[in-house]
Amino acid sequence: MSQFAAPRKSLGQNFLQDANIINKIVGGLNIQSSDTVLEIGPGRGALTELILPLAKELHLVEFDRDLIRYWENRSQANLTVHGVDILKFELDEIIQSTNTKIKVIGNLPYNISSPVLFHLMRYAEHIDSQVLMLQKEVVERMASGPGSKQYGRLSVMLQQRYDIEMLFKVPPTAFFPPPKVDSAIARLTPMQELANPVLEHDDFAKVVKLAFSMRRKTLRNNLKPILNSQQIESIGVDPSARAETLTVAEFTAISNLVSTI
Ligand code: SAM
Repeated sequence: MSQFAAPRKSLGQNFLQDANIINKIVGGLNIQSSDTVLEIGPGRGALTELILPLAKELHLVEFDRDLIRYWENRSQANLTVHGVDILKFELDEIIQSTNTKIKVIGNLPYNISSPVLFHLMRYAEHIDSQVLMLQKEVVERMASGPGSKQYGRLSVMLQQRYDIEMLFKVPPTAFFPPPKVDSAIARLTPMQELANPVLEHDDFAKVVKLAFSMRRKTLRNNLKPILNSQQIESIGVDPSARAETLTVAEFTAISNLVSTI
């Protein structure tokens, strides 16, 4: 009998079982012997076992009580276990313990993938890169550009801060149990120099959220609570355009206008 309990659906437990894919995912993080790595949701260790001999420090954040106990019983000098919900985990603890930027990896529970992406963004300046397994549609949304159907709030918010690549797709057969959706690996690399810096991040988040609040409506309509048509025009943006046609640079221009008036 397996030493593990049955996979818990409520915790998004689809465990990787394809050695080739596991190797490729860990390879995508390019781990060096001086690296501090954070793994979100190690589960039964498909990725973890490969990372342990490579990294200087490995921090695990796991929420399943049985799996926390399993990893806590594993005494290994470079391993630290944090038994906590990743959405409540303050990365400062790890950031302060190292003088290098941290690398993040995880086969994420899909029901919380967007909140995890936004949570990690708060720490982007301390992160070297993030290699994450997500639902394929989410990666497409993250990486798509203006004019495409998938382009939306997630694309704009992430592309302002990261270079985003889809590394490869992963079929359901690579997991046990197989998920009902296709998956893909994304690599997010925080930009050293932001191509489109914002004055106030909260204003940027507000503008993007409002602009996409009703996809079929114009900017003039959606941004009414904060800007009028003339103000939108003053920075060279067409108020009758829809949010889905705007570049990240145009969103940052609108946000920076809001921050200065
Ligand atoms: N890394 C393993 C693998 O690839 O086989 C497991 C991946 S499984 C898709 C997701 C993992 O995240 C599970 O181990 C689950 O218990 C854990 N998890 C679920 N919700 C979590 C949360 N809020 N915080 C931290 N870990 C969580």
